Formats: sequence, C-alpha cells, structure tokens
Amino acid sequence: MLTRYEKFLEKLDKRLDKYFEEQCEFIKCKPGCSGCCEVGEYPFSRLELEYLMSGFMNLPFETKHKIKEEIKKLKQEKPQMHKCPFLIDKKCSLYQYRGIVCRTHGLAWYDEDENKIRLPYCVNIGLNYSKVFDRDTGEVLLQNPIKERLRIDSILQSDEAKKYNLEMGEIRPLMKWF
Ligand code: SF4
Repeated sequence: MLTRYEKFLEKLDKRLDKYFEEQCEFIKCKPGCSGCCEVGEYPFSRLELEYLMSGFMNLPFETKHKIKEEIKKLKQEKPQMHKCPFLIDKKCSLYQYRGIVCRTHGLAWYDEDENKIRLPYCVNIGLNYSKVFDRDTGEVLLQNPIKERLRIDSILQSDEAKKYNLEMGEIRPLMKWF
C-alpha cells in the first residue's frame, strides 16, 4: 500500500508544484519559513500517518529522541493548536514523508460546497495572499483561485486516488494518533 501511495504522491506533488507556480505572485514561502508548522492541529489520515512513521524509523537516534520528548510534552499539555512535533530547528525532520496538509500548506483554493475561497493561515501575518485579502472586511480579491478542493478527504478519495487503490482510513488531528 505505501508503495502505491508513494506513486500517488509523485503525481500529487507535480500538480501542487504547478499550482504554486501559477499562484507565485501571491506566494511568499521561502526556505527557513516554518510558519505553517508552528501553529495548527495537522489533520492526518491513517494512511498518511503510516507513511510518516515509516520515515521516522530511519531518523537518527537523537532526532527520534527529540520528537518523542515533544510528543510526550504535548500529550501532557493537550493544547489544541501547537507546533508540530516533527519540526526540529525550524525544519521538517520528515519532509519526504510529510502529510497532505503539509504539502498543500500555503495555497488558496475555491471551496465549491461553501462558495468561498479558503486562504492559508499565514495570510493573517502578512504572507501568502495578503495582497488580495482585506483583513478589515474579510474580502478576498483573488481572481483565479485553484479550482481543486485541497482537503485530505477530497484528495484521497478523488478519481486519481482510486487508480492507486488507496485506503485512507480515519482522519484525526496529528496528536490524536499518539
Ligand atoms: S510533518 Fe513536517 S511539514 Fe508537516 S506540519 Fe509537521 S513539520 Fe510541518
């Protein structure tokens, strides 16, 4: 299953790269910025979690130790929004194995069901899409948002995903898996 998922991710990453390119005038992502991984709940399906943890096995002992300590702390404190425990020194320790929410972070897309444009969190700190967002009125002046529904369930249950015979499993906030 994970091999099929990896093949599926190759296709998804290509599509997302294209979106980032098309939307580049609104994107302020750059190396060293870890804003998307600093505050959140990080929903992961069972499939994505299995893939993430398959990468965890091969991390250096020291890194694994830091992550385990961070998870232990989060389990005690139970904050709803938190830094991702896999973010070490402002870098994703499992970048290749990261989840779908991590891959779509930073993009705005049109939500047909709700008839609204979904903006990334960092618009609120003057980053992606801030030049087409009026913080006072909440108005979004984006002419050509991405037309694909960039949510985990929609992506993993798409016609494209069906070709890879993937079993998504339940979706939970990341810390609810530990
Ligand atoms: S898994 Fe990596 S990319 Fe995803 S939220 Fe955590 S640190 Fe960020």
